[in-house]
Amino acid sequence: MTAITRLREKLCACGHSLLARGLTFGTSGNLSVRLPDGGWLMTPINFSLGNLDPALLSHLDKNGRLVSGDAPTKEAFLHLSMYRNRPQCEAVVHLHSIHAVAVSCLCGFDASDCLPPLTAYYVMCIGRIPLIRYFPPGDQALAQEVEAMASTHHAVLLANHDPVVSGNSLNVAISATEELEETAKLFLLLRGKTTSPLTTAQVEELRQRFPS
Ligand code: ZN
Repeated sequence: MTAITRLREKLCACGHSLLARGLTFGTSGNLSVRLPDGGWLMTPINFSLGNLDPALLSHLDKNGRLVSGDAPTKEAFLHLSMYRNRPQCEAVVHLHSIHAVAVSCLCGFDASDCLPPLTAYYVMCIGRIPLIRYFPPGDQALAQEVEAMASTHHAVLLANHDPVVSGNSLNVAISATEELEETAKLFLLLRGKTTSPLTTAQVEELRQRFPS
């Protein structure tokens, strides 16, 4: 089995697992992984992540043009924005996970960093996540907004939508997305209660101990 065949199968297996665990629903959500030539494999449009076919994945070149397979999701540009601006990025995950969607619909928080550092694992996996203002699905203007943040943030939260999370492997991007979803859930559970998030000094110590 070639490395690319393995990547195709892994992408499908991860999609199936994410859907089965309720981290996205219907035909929402999309995953991609970078290939050695700079192109990438991506989940196609109108497919449930639980029902992907390795042979039908969209194969795109480094500029996001379709090389083979089914047409990519209309959210492919979100992935391209991350790949273009983060040379270390090897995978991108965008799920419509319910608690992160809920946080993306709130107002009145710091748009440069939407969630407090409630746990050490959140700081280690995500750290800081800015909110990007609302655009309709597929709106290319959103690409510019994501690109402006991508070089300095590996994860962004799209208002009234959901996060886009990149990582230096598919496993890392998925783990970070799951940590973000659990932190969003925790944040909502604790709303209205007095909390004790990690202090600035504690966050800084974690960044030094576990540099990303
Ligand atoms: Zn979406």
